[in-house]
Amino acid sequence: MSDFDFDLFVIGGGSGGVRAARMAAQRGARVALAEARGLAGLGGTCVTLGCIPKKLYRYAADYAAAFDDARGYGWQTSAPTLDWSMLKRRRAAEIERLNGVYETLLRNAGVTLLLGHARLLDAHTVAVSARHADGSTTQQPWRARHILVATGGTPHVPHFHGREHVITSNEVFDLDPFPRRLVVVGGGYIACEFASIFHGLGAEVTLLYRGEQILRGFDDEVRHFLAAELAREGLDVRLRSGVVAVQRVADGLRVQLEDGAALRADAVLYATGRAPNVAGLGLDAVGVAQGPLGAIVVDEHFRTNVPSVYALGDVTARVQLTPVALAEAMALVDHLFGPPAGAPPRSARYDLIPTAVFTYPEVATVGWTQEQALQRCDRVRVYRSVFRPLRHTLSGRGARTLVKLLVDDASDRVVGLHMVGTEAAEIVQGFAVALRAGATKADFDATLGIHPTVAEEFVTLREPAAVLQRLS
Ligand code: FAD
Repeated sequence: MSDFDFDLFVIGGGSGGVRAARMAAQRGARVALAEARGLAGLGGTCVTLGCIPKKLYRYAADYAAAFDDARGYGWQTSAPTLDWSMLKRRRAAEIERLNGVYETLLRNAGVTLLLGHARLLDAHTVAVSARHADGSTTQQPWRARHILVATGGTPHVPHFHGREHVITSNEVFDLDPFPRRLVVVGGGYIACEFASIFHGLGAEVTLLYRGEQILRGFDDEVRHFLAAELAREGLDVRLRSGVVAVQRVADGLRVQLEDGAALRADAVLYATGRAPNVAGLGLDAVGVAQGPLGAIVVDEHFRTNVPSVYALGDVTARVQLTPVALAEAMALVDHLFGPPAGAPPRSARYDLIPTAVFTYPEVATVGWTQEQALQRCDRVRVYRSVFRPLRHTLSGRGARTLVKLLVDDASDRVVGLHMVGTEAAEIVQGFAVALRAGATKADFDATLGIHPTVAEEFVTLREPAAVLQRLS
């Protein structure tokens, strides 16, 4: 009889934790999962405060453009209005439904679900505190052969005067009342998405970013193109613009900027980065090594410096995306308990991760940026097209679409594919398979388009717009 209660103890019921717990239990392991936010936390950030509610609000916001565009197609509509309370209620109900789906998945897989905050006591012991109706808390220790920390991340707001008046992505979904004037601070994908979503929902939005251009890390041309498109849509995008202080005043909030200007807002959303969720985890006591902002340091098998303790997903602050956390979880389970019968063990790959920014218009990308391609290839052929999509000939909207391919001249391999335009994410997902399969420009040329679509542009780019030499 083993002196462990469980073979695997998972801390955190988010994307990575749930996937690891389910897969390990299906492999026959005795598994427990602790979730600090109770049943309402099941599914983690993605389901409760991230990807899913955000995409639901994106869909809601997209109707504004659709109502507008419909007029150009002959539809006579009176100006529709948004019932913000109804949208919030319907979103909350859907998230609750999803929490239930995750609970069922875990229970059906035979995972022991523990609702409470978990903390490491030693290399093999986890204490889970449960809060009771009378306000008291109890702690129960559990012994496990392996412990997986999958506690995700949390918004990181810098210190400044008036910090207590601002909100983060955790609060934005339930703002009450709807913010007529919204200031969003940050230049990453989360800041851009919420700025664009609330603009679509009818708010007057200012996006403030300290740096030279939004979406650091994306292809430069994509960054500039998106900033211009957001501005064309009516978003006030201010670059090289930092906040000094936020003050409550009679008609809302006053945002004092570094350049001396001031803005009035009903809400100020800070989306300036995320920090690993490690508070109260007991990592120090066990001696788990941590990096910047507390990120847990792991090797290629997600093992920390304490051999029985593993970590994956956002808490390791590597690539913070749900599909990455899922891939890491499956790789870890294969490593600990063996792959499914007859299958080779999986490993998480960090190249060619397709990714999207759900702004209006959308950005999606897979592979290298032009800057990365020029560091890795001697010569890069750049194919691009900027055009007005057919949809907007009659809609009257001035929106343009950008499609861009980067090709390694020596091998003819397509090494980067970028798009800014409607349904970019849906389109690029398919092309990600082609890039993973090593598609060349000749393969793209040999592929027939589906006409008339926006996506066919990717297979009809004939002449390079530029041929660039490696950066020395
Ligand atoms: P999480 O999903 O964060 O789960 C961690 C869980 O651990 C939480 O439920 C938490 O309550 C629990 N926990 C923490 N500490 C403890 C403890 N001590 N004891 C017990 N439980 C604990 N990714 C995409 O791929 N696409 C998107 O469109 C996208 N949009 C996003 C939008 C926003 C606004 C945000 C914030 C994130 C978005 N992400 C998106 C990122 C995605 O949500 C994360 O990469 C993903 O959720 C990471 O999964 P995880 O398992 O590492 O952690």
